[in-house]
Amino acid sequence: MLSDKVLSIAESATLATAQKARELAQTGVDVISMSLGEPDFAPPELIKEAAIKAIQDNVASYSPVPGYADLRQAISAKFKRDNNLDYNENQIVVSNGAKQSIANMIISLLNDGDEVVLPAPYWVSYFDVIKFAGGKSGVIPTDIDSDFKITPEQLDKAITDKTKLFLFSNPCNPSGTVYTKEELEALAKVFEKYPNVLIASDEIYEYIVFEGEYFSFGSIPSMKDRTITINGLSKAFAVTGWRLGYLAGPTELVQACSKIQSQFTSGANSIAQKAAIAALNAGPESVAYMKEAFLQRRNRLIKEINDRLPGVITNNPNGAFYLFPDMSCYFGKGNIKDSQDLSLYLLQEAHVAITPGEPFGAPNCMRFSYALAEDKIVEAVERIEKAVKKL
Ligand code: PMP
Ligand code: GLU
Repeated sequence: MLSDKVLSIAESATLATAQKARELAQTGVDVISMSLGEPDFAPPELIKEAAIKAIQDNVASYSPVPGYADLRQAISAKFKRDNNLDYNENQIVVSNGAKQSIANMIISLLNDGDEVVLPAPYWVSYFDVIKFAGGKSGVIPTDIDSDFKITPEQLDKAITDKTKLFLFSNPCNPSGTVYTKEELEALAKVFEKYPNVLIASDEIYEYIVFEGEYFSFGSIPSMKDRTITINGLSKAFAVTGWRLGYLAGPTELVQACSKIQSQFTSGANSIAQKAAIAALNAGPESVAYMKEAFLQRRNRLIKEINDRLPGVITNNPNGAFYLFPDMSCYFGKGNIKDSQDLSLYLLQEAHVAITPGEPFGAPNCMRFSYALAEDKIVEAVERIEKAVKKL
């Protein structure tokens, strides 16, 4: 019954692991879920008030497909203020989450056989949406010793005459890696040799960077006209369910994304769009308390893992709310062959949900989302410690 296209892709591993945890919890089991990447904070008051006002003002009609003009102006101003990026409102399209922005972009750009270079670990959806669009991923492997960062030499080797796009998240989901300005400039030097390759920078965790100033790839002067910048409200403002993301880039691409959206979904949720104006104008200071909490939790999680799980290798990621340790020390023990088995075992035995690394292109690692209370983080690692001792 189903198309080859749909059969060729997997369900999102992050959402699938979260769903398994939910199903187990529904049977009455006390599950600690570190599977889904979503902040555990309530949305800030000012966004809630803006959403309520939009409802009361009867903001209920279809919006323009690329988003309300005042929202696109607010996004343009945000890019200037936070990122030193110059995108005018006609270079911006608002979507039902950054996930839709990414899908619009990939479908707009790829012909069958075109390649997208992805540093691994990559966010799970990149790989499957590229496949769905008929493209191929050219994966650059990295490891925990180099903080999961690619080198300019690796990039140079990965680009072929079929490469259309380079796509990465910075900060990275799942590794939490944040590239510095100097590292990005060194990668830009490589791209200067390949003028036909576009670069997509997914900056959805931009407000969750612990040390140093965040630097946007598109603000490098030679990359300005070739960079597509993706962002959204989900993580920064703790409104994952409101579904509001956006993309900015060359006008031709933005118009194509808008065309696809006009056929698939129309403009994004009108209430969320109005709330987004308030959120974007409030800026990073309004949510800095979340970042502080995530930093504490990151430190606690690393400490607990290092104290309790000998053999597991951790690093010190500078952003997002994920830790991506190498847990291959357990492979080959009991019936555990790989990260998928270990994820299932830990869910069943420890009632802790963590996401396997394999769908992120890093099969030795596992993703812990630490967007939960510190005492739950400690309890989760204690439970894992007990469970792996049985192997
Ligand atoms: N990019 C990355 C790197 C993500 O982790 C996510 C997950 N939220 C998204 C994009 C999509 O975010 P949303 O659709 O909620 O805006
Ligand atoms: N992006 C989040 C994650 O990686 C939410 C789930 C999803 O959108 O796939 O867990």
